[in-house]
Amino acid sequence: MKYLRFSYQDIVHYGILDNNTVQILDGTPFGAYTVTDETLALEAVKILSPCNFSKAVCIGLNYRDHAEEFQLPIPTEPVVFIKPSTTNLAPLGIIEYPPQCHRLDYEAELAIVIGKTTRNIEEKDAKEYILGYTCANDVTARDLQPKQGQWTISKSFDTFCPFGPFISDEVDASNLSIESRVNGKTMQKSNSKNLIFKIPYLVSYLSKVMTLLPGDIILTGTPGGISGMHKGDTVEIIIEGLGTLKNTIG
Ligand code: MG
Repeated sequence: MKYLRFSYQDIVHYGILDNNTVQILDGTPFGAYTVTDETLALEAVKILSPCNFSKAVCIGLNYRDHAEEFQLPIPTEPVVFIKPSTTNLAPLGIIEYPPQCHRLDYEAELAIVIGKTTRNIEEKDAKEYILGYTCANDVTARDLQPKQGQWTISKSFDTFCPFGPFISDEVDASNLSIESRVNGKTMQKSNSKNLIFKIPYLVSYLSKVMTLLPGDIILTGTPGGISGMHKGDTVEIIIEGLGTLKNTIG
């Protein structure tokens, strides 16, 4: 299934996306739902971010080439930080360039969407707690990110977590091409098979620290090739089977 959250005539719905048609759900994919027989054209709806999260848990330095471009050692345990719920931004939303930032970076990331309350689970069981996957951009005020120490300020401005456009459970997340483009030019290109810490491990590891709630997302890290964006730029995150997440900088 490809789950899309959207508004239509000022009412928020979930739907199942099938090419350019959306079939409206009664309920949400995070609980019981029924598929109605009402359909809408994709172009008639306003796409929202796929869910509201209580937290976006992010993994730093999870691709070898990204750690190397920072001249940092390959981590032996996941590097973890959290973006607050107020960073949530829809596809086509405007990423706000903070006045106190002088270098604003994109980071293409595969995001895991948690489907049900997840606490103290083992790697072998991770799959049943994952609703699906989507594209995310871990927007970063790079010049505010100290090379040592914590990253909260640089990662937490409002609008710094665009994700979407839909959640899919139809992909093999262990082998997906991932790419970022700025103004149409490819900036990052890799594959999720290059993740240092794999998805089942991350879900299990995090679940032994904090309860993951339905709708929480885990950003799995970015490959090498990061650089800056400017006001007016368009940034796209493109992941195989997960569509294109497109935003502009304002
Ligand atoms: Mg990142």
